[in-house]
Amino acid sequence: MTLNELQAAEKTFLLPTYERNPLLITSGEGVYLWTGDGTRYLDLLSGIGVSALGYGHPAIARALAEGAGYPLHISNLFFHEGQAELALRLTQVSGLDRAFFANSGTEAWEAALKLARAYSTLRRSEGAELGTRFLALEGSFHGRTMGSVATTHKLKYREPFAPVMPEVDYIPFSDVHALENAWSREYCALLIEPIQGEGGIRPVSQAFMDAARRLTRETGAPLVLDEVQAGFGRTGKWFAYQHYGVEPDVTTIAKPLAGGLPLGAVLCTGELARAIHPGMHGTTFGGGPLACRVAIAVFDEIERTGLLAHVHKVGTYFHERLAELARRHEMVTEVRGVGMMLAIELSDAAHAKAALETMMHTHHILLNRTSETVLRFLPPYILERTHVDTAVAALDATLAGLSAPQLAAQANTGGKIGD
Ligand SMILES: *Cc1c(COP(=O)(O)O)cnc(C)c1O
Repeated sequence: MTLNELQAAEKTFLLPTYERNPLLITSGEGVYLWTGDGTRYLDLLSGIGVSALGYGHPAIARALAEGAGYPLHISNLFFHEGQAELALRLTQVSGLDRAFFANSGTEAWEAALKLARAYSTLRRSEGAELGTRFLALEGSFHGRTMGSVATTHKLKYREPFAPVMPEVDYIPFSDVHALENAWSREYCALLIEPIQGEGGIRPVSQAFMDAARRLTRETGAPLVLDEVQAGFGRTGKWFAYQHYGVEPDVTTIAKPLAGGLPLGAVLCTGELARAIHPGMHGTTFGGGPLACRVAIAVFDEIERTGLLAHVHKVGTYFHERLAELARRHEMVTEVRGVGMMLAIELSDAAHAKAALETMMHTHHILLNRTSETVLRFLPPYILERTHVDTAVAALDATLAGLSAPQLAAQANTGGKIGD
């Protein structure tokens, strides 16, 4: 089918949940994707932070080939070798004690919410004073299931589905005073993305993270950190919380974990794990043999090639080059992020939209827009400096073109990319 035919068919047969960009991807290798007409795109988004090793990586191809000779699925009623090994590896790098495997970020988050409630129930049965409410942050995004949207701040994600899970309160982003005022024994958990992703690549402050750790310790409620986007190496450390020197009670990861296959995980302390008994939670597909095998291969590759240091080095270079751009273009109001989780904020949504269109259609570079005015970069970890130079030169030209008066008008008629 051609792109036109696909567009027509999807318009008829799919629920209209997505406004896709008009590219029909036919192949990928390394940091590049190709469309059917042979056009090559530099991918600075990696499937929203998923394809950490890029496309067609030999280590993943090997794991897939080996995995094809083993049952693709055996359920969680029997043992296979992958879950224990992956769990061991994750506990070693996270400082946490136990893992549960799910199929996606939102499922991992859902499991984390249930774990917090179960722990609260356990502690009350032991005589502790601990409530059932959740405290979350404005600007948060935790996924699309009912519990996840209930803890996701933007109204457009939860209002149409009302009533969502009750007993969730929000405080302003990274506001220490608001946290100190709001926090009490009514809460069973404090829910934070150390670096908000969909919220526009916004790291919470060190003071906020310190207060979050201190206050949750005071009441005995878990500090639950959503690292679905920031975790598993994206920021140049295994977990974003490691930049803050804090250890959470619970964390969730997913996006890059299995290099493109669906896999999510909740990691928690042994203390929290006391709340869970056989039969309380589970999944048919989660932690399947193929996904675990590929995740272990991704893990090995990150360690074998020193990829965390590479993410730090190239990400820092990328950040510096973006900061230079910001000094040259008034339209850029801020540069944010850590490692390969980066963003520039533009002065208005129309320019951000137009910049993405030009980057995609003229320069053949893929990125995305989040929170209206934010251009987001979540490239594959294997990105090199030369790709950064190509991208920054293209951005420079794009922003210069947008600030020219006759072109500024076009900014209001750009197509759709991103959320
Ligand atoms: C993407 C994301 C999720 C949801 O993950 P899915 O795999 O899409 O369900 C949850 N939390 C954060 C921080 C995310 O970025």
